[in-house]
Amino acid sequence: MKLLRSPLAPPLAFCALLGISWLAQPQETHAVRGGVSYISNKGGNIGVLVNAAGSLMVDAQFADVAPENEAAVVALGGGGPVYLINTHWHPDHTGGNAHFASTAQIFAHLNVRRRLEGDSEIGGRVLNDTPRAALPVVLFKTGLKIYFGGEELHLIHAPRAHTDGDTIVYFKEARVIHMGDTYFSGGYPFIDISSGGSAQGLIDAVEGVISWAPEDAWVIPGHGQATDLRGLLAYLEMLKTIVARVRAGAARSLDLDALLAEGVTRDFDSQWGGGFIDARRLVESILADLPPSNETGQGAQDE
Ligand SMILES: [Zn+2]
Repeated sequence: MKLLRSPLAPPLAFCALLGISWLAQPQETHAVRGGVSYISNKGGNIGVLVNAAGSLMVDAQFADVAPENEAAVVALGGGGPVYLINTHWHPDHTGGNAHFASTAQIFAHLNVRRRLEGDSEIGGRVLNDTPRAALPVVLFKTGLKIYFGGEELHLIHAPRAHTDGDTIVYFKEARVIHMGDTYFSGGYPFIDISSGGSAQGLIDAVEGVISWAPEDAWVIPGHGQATDLRGLLAYLEMLKTIVARVRAGAARSLDLDALLAEGVTRDFDSQWGGGFIDARRLVESILADLPPSNETGQGAQDE
């Protein structure tokens, strides 16, 4: 991959919506492969596909950076996006929807529209002001295939993972996968239990991708730098190990403080604990999703 350009952008403050700090980063466009790039800025990574059919986007970051992100998309040569796919409903991925809806049809899992339409809560803050233009108009339940120019996209729903409406986008010809927030590269994952997410669903989502992804796939995370499959495997190992330790500790009636004191994340903290989810927050979310609630399938479903 190479960096295409580094336009001027102010250091961007943190995602206050989550009540946690977010690393400031300049807007950058990274070419990946086969016409697929991603734009990092404020919020989740925007995936862009440009080919003879025009341009297509995955996620839209926040409203306030939508004009500069649109400029970065147009600079890739395919014009304004014809389609915009939301990987999930969080505002750092859908806040720019209304802006991009002037050229794009918006696609998403049906729970994304449901959450954007109603009152949803994140980090204790209720969001109920989504403009109509920002709502996805093409909805699917388990997945969707889109042919766009010479590319074949597979939109794959991951049930109860980061939220209850996650979509993983596979660019088959390019062999590039946009994971949305089912993958945090270099940091502990945010599991949004209040939006129907679950630790087991997150593990299942990542294992699913690893089961079918080509060996030389590039993987774009919701946050952080793109990696190869080895990066995703390391993330899966970290996640599975910590979840197993938390479950074993909880079976011995250890609470959050006792689990942390026992060091369930200690050997991973230096590599993964420096992002916007720290060890405490990760373990807390895993504890909120312990079996048997997980085994009985309680919680938000696709309906
Ligand atoms: Zn998210």
